[in-house]
Order: sequence, then C-alpha cells, then structure tokens
Amino acid sequence: MTPDLQESGARARRAHEAKQAAQTGRTESGGREAAFGRLLQHGEPDFAHGVALYLEDITVSFDGFKALNALSLSVNVGELRCIIGPNGAGKTTMMDCITGKTRPDAGRAYFGSNIDLLRLSETAIAQVGIGRKFQKPTVYEALSVFDNLELALKADRRVRAAIGWRLSEAQRSRIDEVMTLIHLQRDAHRTAGLLSHGQKQWLEIGMLLMQEPKLLLLDEPVAGMTDEETERTAELFLTLEGQHSLVVVEHDMKFVDQLTQGRKTVTVLHEGRVLAEGLLSDVQRNEKVVEVYLGR
Ligand code: ADP
Ligand code: MG
Repeated sequence: MTPDLQESGARARRAHEAKQAAQTGRTESGGREAAFGRLLQHGEPDFAHGVALYLEDITVSFDGFKALNALSLSVNVGELRCIIGPNGAGKTTMMDCITGKTRPDAGRAYFGSNIDLLRLSETAIAQVGIGRKFQKPTVYEALSVFDNLELALKADRRVRAAIGWRLSEAQRSRIDEVMTLIHLQRDAHRTAGLLSHGQKQWLEIGMLLMQEPKLLLLDEPVAGMTDEETERTAELFLTLEGQHSLVVVEHDMKFVDQLTQGRKTVTVLHEGRVLAEGLLSDVQRNEKVVEVYLGR
C-alpha cells in the first residue's frame, strides 16, 4: 500500500470514528478506544488498520478459463473506489467472490483485518455489513417506496428477532432520512412499479442503506439512467463516502470522473487482474489501458 493510500485510509478512519462518537455520545478518545482498545463483538469487522476490503491472489476458474487470475486489491475504510475495465474483465465475478456467491479456487479475501470472507456464507457476509446492488433493480413493484424501505429494515435479523416488532420512531426517521438521501421523500407513498428506472435504482440503494452496510458494492449503478439521474447518483455516492466504503463498477467515464473528483484512485481490471491503478487522468493516458479498453 502506498503512503498516500495509508494516509487517506487513516483520514477516513478518523472521520468515521468522529461520526461514531457523535452518534453514540462518546467522547473523541472514547471513539478511538472503540476502534483500537475495546474487544470487538463476535463477528464484527476490525477496521483499526484502515482497510475495509483486502483481496489477495483471488483466482476463479470456469471450466479452466480464469475469470479472475490472481486478483489483488485493497480498499480503505470510507474510501469510494471506482473499478473500470472491458466487458469480461471479471468485475462482476469479483463482487460474486466478495459476497460469497462464487467461491474462488485460491486466494484470500478479508473484510476489515479479521473477517475471512471465504469462510462465511452469503447470508453471513451480508450480516457482517457488506451490501450489494445488482445491475437490475429488484424492488417490490406492488409496494410503496416507504413499504419497500420498511421491508428492507425487517429483513435485518436483529430487527426481526425483536418480539412484537413494530416501527419505532427512530426507525421511522431513519426511513425518512434515507428517502431524502435517495430523492424519493415526495414519492413515499407511490407504488414502486410507477417509478422511473433511475428512481427504482435509488430505491434499491435505499433498501441496502436500511441495513447500514459498512461496505457497499455497486455494479453498473447508472446503466440506463438519464444524465440528470446519473449526476444525482454521483452526488448520493459522494454523500455516502466516508460513512461507508464503496466499490463502484462503472463504464460511464463522466460519472467516474464526477465520483473521483480528480483525486481518487481508480482500478482498471483486465483479464481477471489489475491492469492499472491510479488517478483517472493517469489511467486514461496509460497505453495498456487505452489499448484494451478506452481506445476501442
Ligand atoms: P465483467 O463483469 O467485468 O464484464 P464477468 O465477471 O461477468 O465480467 O465475467 C468474467 C468472465 O467470466 C467472462 O468471460 C464471463 O463470460 C466468464 N463467466 C462469468 N461467470 C461465469 C459462469 N458462471 N460460468 C462460466 N463463465 C463465466
Ligand atoms: Mg459485469
């Protein structure tokens, strides 16, 4: 890891701790203690080293063809990382490995410094705080925006476990907060099936947020969106950055540019491994990248 990345990881961690301390009413030193000193609860990711996701030499073969070929990648706590690369590069397969949908043949995958993702089931991975948005939105079309969000809350094991569960004031206001974030507060009681494609995508992101994931994986989130919807989505992700770690796979370079703001690291995947990593302007000039991806 470069010192730069370490520094940005440390910054993100400090911001994250300050926010947590503010939420729980702990003092700043209490917040630090929370991250460094106290014992983590069983199954809780340890972010004290500033790394949210760590992949090392992940290899996935489909009938001898290597969809991922010794892929190594690391994402810092609170970082928004864009992943680009041609079709078939292995971007979706990478997300499948992180979420437990596909088991790699070899390699290591850690969430925080302590959670070995390759030993957890898909359900357990979602429960430790990794949320994934697929390419197609999968909202409940017959239900209202509000009800979709409420349902997402109920899908949480901890909420379901409470006997006689009914929406608390805090949960109601969390739903309101998420509706505002995803620009759907005025559509709270609208049937989801009547929303535009872009709005459905936002609703699904909102449903993910209800589970308060620490890491969000977003596979081509702006595909099929209008320019305005795309811009709003970038704004949304920039709001989430810091509080969450985000991995965004996208082809739309204007969107990637808006997300990276000329200063964030972009990763280029090709043939199942990292071809280049750096600022968007640098990878766009990289000859290998131009040849296999951008120059087509
Ligand atoms: P990307 O998302 O970057 O476009 P994918 O991860 O979807 O790429 O696919 C990477 C490669 O793996 C492609 O060549 C694809 O055809 C192949 N692949 C993906 N999933 C499977 C599967 N379940 N069985 C066989 N081949 C697959
Ligand atoms: Mg894909």
